[in-house]
Amino acid sequence: MKILPKKSLGQNFLINERILNKIVDLGNLTAEDEVLEIGPGTGNLTKKILEKKPKNLTVIEKDKNLSNILKNKFNKKIRIINDDILNYSKTNFINEPIIIYGNLPYNISTQILVNWIKIKNLNNFCKKFILMFQKEVADRIIAKHNSSKYGRLSILSSWKMNVEKIIDISPKNFYPVPKVNSSLLVFKPKSNIYKLKDPKNLEHITNIFFNQRRKMIKKPLKFLFKDFEKVAKSLSLDLNLRPQNLSNEMYFKICSTYEKLIK
Ligand code: SAH
Repeated sequence: MKILPKKSLGQNFLINERILNKIVDLGNLTAEDEVLEIGPGTGNLTKKILEKKPKNLTVIEKDKNLSNILKNKFNKKIRIINDDILNYSKTNFINEPIIIYGNLPYNISTQILVNWIKIKNLNNFCKKFILMFQKEVADRIIAKHNSSKYGRLSILSSWKMNVEKIIDISPKNFYPVPKVNSSLLVFKPKSNIYKLKDPKNLEHITNIFFNQRRKMIKKPLKFLFKDFEKVAKSLSLDLNLRPQNLSNEMYFKICSTYEKLIK
């Protein structure tokens, strides 16, 4: 079967053996591990994962043609789900802690990540994520406060996970060659997270603050809280700061205050 990579599905296949090996090794896979791969494409990474002989390997691939190619290539050695990963953000098809790999389709990478973050007790269900992003997005995920890239993605990610950047990967390692640089990140879900009622509230709060990232925080606080001066005082917040100056911890506290008020 001939493969014509589809741009609409973000198909850029990783072709560098050395990098493929490095990605797989990051999982430290054993015979006990259940593995999920998102967007396996032509199976370059899939093949490397299989060589480590994990207990199970499930892949989710939206492209029908590629799913068939994978079926021919790997036969019964893997479980192939021909569907959209965005339909599989819940835990209903896996019970054990798993390791998730994905050279993600870049157009929906943040949506995929945020869906996973929203899963309750993520650490019970997932040991590790090893994911490839467009570099610019990876930089936003790992950004710390007081940097211009800091925002919703860094705050949500750090709430649930420890994130580490492993390497940047240049376009020439993919086919077809993409226009952007890529970065490989490893996420480990935290066992102890700051207790919030609903991650949607943290998304909401960070959206309000970072929609106008250059404005002083007085404005978003006023929008969120009728009694904003009291809230600022109780959290020792200087109203002249800008959204990027507040630590992730402070956003968790603001969210928690907000959740108490909206009840
Ligand atoms: N992991 C492969 C391919 C990466 S390209 C490699 O490294 O070579 C991204 C892959 O994700 C493509 O195979 C594409 O068809 C698939 N994909 C795109 N959108 C998807 C979605 N919504 N759900 C599942 N797979 C998707």
